[in-house]
Amino acid sequence: MISLKNPKELAAMKQACQIAAGALWAGGRAVAPGVTTAEIDAVIHDYIVQHGARPNFLGYGGFKGSACVSVNEELIHGIPGKRVLKEGDIVSIDGGAELNGFHGDNAWTFAVGTVSEEAAALMEATRIALERAIEAARPGNRMGDIGHAVQSYAESRGYHVVRQYVGHGIGRKLHESPEVPNFGQPGRGIRLLPGMTLAIEPMIAMGTHQVRVLRDGWTVVNASGQLTAHYEHTVAITESGPVILTLPPEEAIE
Ligand code: MG
Repeated sequence: MISLKNPKELAAMKQACQIAAGALWAGGRAVAPGVTTAEIDAVIHDYIVQHGARPNFLGYGGFKGSACVSVNEELIHGIPGKRVLKEGDIVSIDGGAELNGFHGDNAWTFAVGTVSEEAAALMEATRIALERAIEAARPGNRMGDIGHAVQSYAESRGYHVVRQYVGHGIGRKLHESPEVPNFGQPGRGIRLLPGMTLAIEPMIAMGTHQVRVLRDGWTVVNASGQLTAHYEHTVAITESGPVILTLPPEEAIE
């Protein structure tokens, strides 16, 4: 069942989302050569707790971190640990917060120092795919319009869209119905309605759309071993169009 949120619920959700965004960007500011993925996770954890919220990734399905920190060919669900970031890596950070019974979820791929043109182009294309997907998240459209926006743009740039993992509804739970695929046909799928709140999250790869899970049981990597990128916002669909709930507060990205 898809839950539609009323304006009061959307306002509460926005508070959780703003903490999720502030935490993500605090983590992003900590990204640098020589920093471990565990140190980034600690920054995110502390930000969320200091703002009176709960890191909703921590313990989810037994996950041992407040954020997923995934490097290069790692797409999602990277477990924070001793890995040291190197100049030229790209690191996808995915984290969320729960406040007063509502959840926020967001992700961003950050450059570690100066990255290759190839990596920068993949990051830009995935970010633009997210923008286009959000633009399609409006009443009158259907779920397939969101997926098509991602797929058509990513594939036009020569990249591959991961099929095995998708975005999701979000609200009183971190993962709610419906699924939000990053592929699809325009005009197909369920109708998008005001009050829907969706975590829209393009996962884009070089070489192949196929992924596999490492022996740690969590980390999802590109089967080709090439780079991946992942960007995510929590978005509310309103009568007047999409509203990004996880836009970072300005002071968060300075
Ligand atoms: Mg998500």
